[in-house]
Amino acid sequence: MATFIVLLGPPGAGKGTQAQIISRSMNLPHISTGDLFRENIKNLTELGKEAQTYMNQGQLVPDSLTISMVKERLSRSDCVNGALLDGFPRTSAQAEAFDRMLLETFKSKVDCVPCIEVEADHLIERLCGRWMCPNGHVFHTKFNPPKESGVCDICGSALYQRDDDKIQTVSRRIAVYEAQTAPLIQYYENQNVLYRIDGSQEIDSVSADILDVLKKFAKK
Ligand code: ADP
Ligand code: AMP
Repeated sequence: MATFIVLLGPPGAGKGTQAQIISRSMNLPHISTGDLFRENIKNLTELGKEAQTYMNQGQLVPDSLTISMVKERLSRSDCVNGALLDGFPRTSAQAEAFDRMLLETFKSKVDCVPCIEVEADHLIERLCGRWMCPNGHVFHTKFNPPKESGVCDICGSALYQRDDDKIQTVSRRIAVYEAQTAPLIQYYENQNVLYRIDGSQEIDSVSADILDVLKKFAKK
């Protein structure tokens, strides 16, 4: 049976950072809808052009575009044993569509939702100091600096700051999370799959807490 894990939490909570560690340890592909949109923007696809307008404004990309992109990604062969979702679902419509997708395609369901909790003040500091590489590896000037300034430790690419990590857009993204994504906490609580994780700890302690929750889903 395939295993599907959803990392939930506000922008800057550490979903991408944790997903990199956990996907390796669980041997599941890391699917970040933000990374998929950024890849489409870089490749100048129609989807990328459409998504960019919303992303620059700190708004969510429409559900229909996001859901079909995830459906296509999940149809690839690396997802036969499941996946670790980061940044999806972000609305009730996406969560319901995802449940249907898993049932129809995999005869499966969402197994576990670690929800990474961090206070809003800290989120702003995290997002404004974030540097990342085109392959989605994440750093922070203060909390997780690369060994060599401006260079990714993992793949050697040049690091950049995201356009939507500017202070004005960051505040809007946090408000959008509260309005449209936070209701999913209750949605997954109702399914008995939600686990609250203290995201204010050091990166390694957050990983340890998430892996502890995920132990029972690890493939032998
Ligand atoms: P998200 O994917 O949830 O938006 P990221 O994983 O990109 O969040 O993390 C946002 C920023 O905070 C990054 O610069 C990252 O290096 C940093 N970060 C992640 N986890 C922690 C942590 N536990 N403590 C301090 N900084 C963190
Ligand atoms: P992230 O990399 O997760 O911070 O996402 C960056 C931006 O991509 C978000 O602010 C949205 O504009 C867009 N995005 C990512 N995932 C989704 C999603 N599931 N639904 C709608 N928009 C998304």
